[in-house]
Amino acid sequence: PSIRRHVSKHQFVVELSQCLFDFVVQLLPTPEELAVKEDVRKLLEKLIRTIEPNSRLLSFGSTANGFSLRNSDMDLCCLIDSEERLSASDLVTILGDLLERETKFKVKPLPHARIPIVKLSLDPSSPGLPHGIACDIGFENRLALENTRLLMCYAMVDPARVRTLVLFLKVWSKRRKINSPYEGTLSSYGYVLLVIYFLVHVKNPPVLPNLQQIPPLRPIPRDEYYMGDHNVWFFDDIDVLRQRWQSSNTESVAELLIDFFRYYSRDFLYNSGVASIRAGLLQKESKGWQNQSDSRPDLRERNRLCIEDPFETDYNVARCVTKDGLYTIRGEFMRASRILASRPERALLALTQLCE
Ligand code: ATP
Ligand code: MG
Repeated sequence: PSIRRHVSKHQFVVELSQCLFDFVVQLLPTPEELAVKEDVRKLLEKLIRTIEPNSRLLSFGSTANGFSLRNSDMDLCCLIDSEERLSASDLVTILGDLLERETKFKVKPLPHARIPIVKLSLDPSSPGLPHGIACDIGFENRLALENTRLLMCYAMVDPARVRTLVLFLKVWSKRRKINSPYEGTLSSYGYVLLVIYFLVHVKNPPVLPNLQQIPPLRPIPRDEYYMGDHNVWFFDDIDVLRQRWQSSNTESVAELLIDFFRYYSRDFLYNSGVASIRAGLLQKESKGWQNQSDSRPDLRERNRLCIEDPFETDYNVARCVTKDGLYTIRGEFMRASRILASRPERALLALTQLCE
């Protein structure tokens, strides 16, 4: 007869940390996958240059920020370095036609979306790509390139803890089906911001510095860190940062994960608070995001969960999260918290149960 072994908290978090590292490592993209994706990017860039010779096609999102899982989709952004250029929606239409003629991709141009994009996909049967590929191409989305770089810098300050936490939460949120903005839950980008907010502003001592509040080493002219109205400054010299910034927080990745779930199931002020990685906890009221009493249902739904975009500060990254969506997400945070608090005999069992 099996007698339940008593697992001490210390023993459990040591084991769970190791399990988290092992779990995440096997979900990283293979070198082959990264090479194929880079080939696809180059091919697409070559084709786009037949329309706009002065253009560059750059990766953003998970393929470029260090938070990429195996078989994740590709986010690409086309920058055009010339004064006169076609509008984004015309480019989407023309590029859509060209790719349809010249490649094997399934092509879906969306010229009239809020951000016009071309959607591309290849079926899983293609050689070298056992899981196919999905890719979005947008135009001139320079803020997305900057927020990708910001997230990448955060990942590089403390890769072992930050990357492991983020990658685990991405897998967890996908397996628990709370990672679809189209169905009222939160995008991966939103979850990453929640993790960074937690590590910068909730943990005491903090695990990460606030990169947007560290001043530059020497003064730089305003036009170099403004994009339109948006201040995109952040401290990005990782070598300097690694020399000067040592976190005095020594918690293991498992302890941080347990505390992350506890914080977002119990402590975060969903009704009044805004999570801002730039400025800490803000009030919905002070941002004019408290429109819960608005008579228009679509607006009323808009600010249930509030996460400020790091640069586009009047933009709520979680605006797609509905009342039901938030209820489900919070329920999942509680479930995860409960499973981890019960300290199952084997840490691996806890992870499997979490992601069931
Ligand atoms: P996944 O591997 O799940 O695709 P990802 O890291 O690529 O995750 P996405 O949510 O696909 O994350 O976001 C990719 C990029 O798109 C982000 O880095 C961000 O620049 C932009 N983005 C995504 N969602 C939003 C949003 N709600 N608001 C603003 N920008 C967003
Ligand atoms: Mg993506």
